[in-house]
Amino acid sequence: MRQFLIAGNWKMNAGPKEAKALADQIAESWEDKDTNSEILICPPFVSIPFVVKRFRDTGLKTGAQNVHTENNGAYTGEISTEMIHELSCEYVIAGHSERRAYFFETDELVAEKAKKISDSGLKPIVCVGEKLDERKNDIYRDVVKNQTEAVLELLDSSDASQLVIAYEPVWAIGTGETATPEQAQEMHAFIRNLIADEWGQEASESVRILYGGSMKPGNAEELLSQPDVDGGLIGGASLKEESFSEIISIAE
Ligand code: PEP
Repeated sequence: MRQFLIAGNWKMNAGPKEAKALADQIAESWEDKDTNSEILICPPFVSIPFVVKRFRDTGLKTGAQNVHTENNGAYTGEISTEMIHELSCEYVIAGHSERRAYFFETDELVAEKAKKISDSGLKPIVCVGEKLDERKNDIYRDVVKNQTEAVLELLDSSDASQLVIAYEPVWAIGTGETATPEQAQEMHAFIRNLIADEWGQEASESVRILYGGSMKPGNAEELLSQPDVDGGLIGGASLKEESFSEIISIAE
């Protein structure tokens, strides 16, 4: 039985002041919740310490949105897994489509990041997903296959229970467009089959596969009720306490 993971990706939103206020609201509404889901927020780096501090002893978790593959050195502007570890984060997102598009991250680099995250004792949330033209041209399965297999080749089946994959069709991110529950389930089952082919059935059953792309209270129930959907990676709706908390309640 896979535990749901409801993860908020704040992207480049919520600096320390705003993050403190939002973390406070989330933690407060969390107090009366009775849920088996794991709840995670990934703030911008500079806001992580404030969110970690507010979430301490609540069970709520904090993660990072990106990382470099080296431990330290002359990489101006970058952050290492050791630094993220020191901040008491548990998860790191790798290969978000915005990083692939604007920072030219390749499947190989994303896989290296996932490996580094995993080897450091952190849990990678690897984002995969096709662009609109790739869906229209019916090559979306190939795209997601390449993205997923690059990661499966560098990690191994002993990493399965720590690995999270987020299927995020790029055409649904921040657009208000959502994959239908059937489209999401098709791709989640497809990804799980790829894992089974590479690592075996048992390992594939322990990898959590999140859906991401305009998830909100109005569509969360249908998406989260699909058998291979194990939670959500949520952008816009995680920046509003009410909608994020509503999704958490729906996931119960
Ligand atoms: C995301 O940033 O991963 C995301 C899914 O964003 P949104 O929920 O805003 O589409």
